[in-house]
Amino acid sequence: MAEHPRFGPAGIPLGFEALKRPVEDVPEYLRNEGLDAFEYQAVRWGPKPQMKKENAEKLGIKAKEHDVRLSVHGSYFINFCGDALTVEASKRRLISCITAAGWMGAHEVVFHPGFYSRSHEEDLQHCAKAMNEVVEFMKSSGIVDVSLAPETAGRIFQLGSLDETLILCEKVELTKPTIDWAHLHAREGGKLKTTDDFRRVINEVENRLGVEAVKELHCHYTRVEFGRTGERRHHTMDEMKYGPDFEPLAILIAELGLNPVILSESPILDVDSQKMQDIVFMEISKRNKGIY
Ligand SMILES: [Zn+2]
Repeated sequence: MAEHPRFGPAGIPLGFEALKRPVEDVPEYLRNEGLDAFEYQAVRWGPKPQMKKENAEKLGIKAKEHDVRLSVHGSYFINFCGDALTVEASKRRLISCITAAGWMGAHEVVFHPGFYSRSHEEDLQHCAKAMNEVVEFMKSSGIVDVSLAPETAGRIFQLGSLDETLILCEKVELTKPTIDWAHLHAREGGKLKTTDDFRRVINEVENRLGVEAVKELHCHYTRVEFGRTGERRHHTMDEMKYGPDFEPLAILIAELGLNPVILSESPILDVDSQKMQDIVFMEISKRNKGIY
C-alpha cells in the first residue's frame, strides 16, 4: 500500500496533545505536517480493547481520508516465553490490540514476543506456538488484513534478535517483521554505522522472507543510548553523538527504491519524523539528478 516511503510518529504528537482534541483528529494533524503514517500506542492495554469501537472506526476513516497509514503498537505486557498462565494472559492482551487494529483498519500490530527464560531455541518455539494460536483466532474471527509484527528488541534479555524475529516470520502466517534500527544497534553494541551495515540487514530480510517483505518494510527509528545489556534511552535526531546515523539508511532507501514505513520513536516524535522525511527525500532527489 505504501507506494512511497512514509513517515510518522510512534505515538501522539506532543503538539497535538496540547490541543486536547480526540485521537481521530491525529491523521489531519499529521497530514498538515506533511506526514503520512501513525502508530497508535496500545502499550498498556489489558485483555479488553481500551478504546471504543466507534472511536477506533472514526480514527480509521479519518486516516483513510488524509492518507495516513495506521499501525498499532501492542501491549508491553506480553511474554510468550513465560509460564502457561502468562502465555494465556499475553495472548488475550495481544488479541485485544489486534481486535482494535481490525476496527481501525491498521496494517500491523507491533509487539515484543517475550523475555528469555529457557534456552533461546525453546523460547522461540514457545513464541511461535503462541503466535500460531493467535493467528488461528484471527482467521476464525475474519481479521486477516492485520499482520502480527514482532519487533527486533533492544535489550539482550529480550527475545528478538534479527534472526529470531525472522524465524518467527518464517514459522507463523500473517506475520511480518518490525525492524527497529535503534534496537538492532543497541543490542549489538553499536553495529550500524555504514550503508553496508544497513544493507546486510535488508539483504537478510530479503533472503529469508522475499523481496516483497523488504519493499514496504515496517521500521522504527530513533537515536539511542545503550550499555552492556542494550538499549538505555532514546535521543533526538539533533543529538549527533548517539547512533545509529540516519543518513546511511536514507542513502540505501534511495539506492534500492524502497518504500518503508518509518515510525519515529524519538522523544520529539513527529518533529523528528519530518527530519527523517527531509533526509530521505533529499537522497532520492540527489539520485534522480544523477549526483551519485
Ligand atoms: Zn520500536
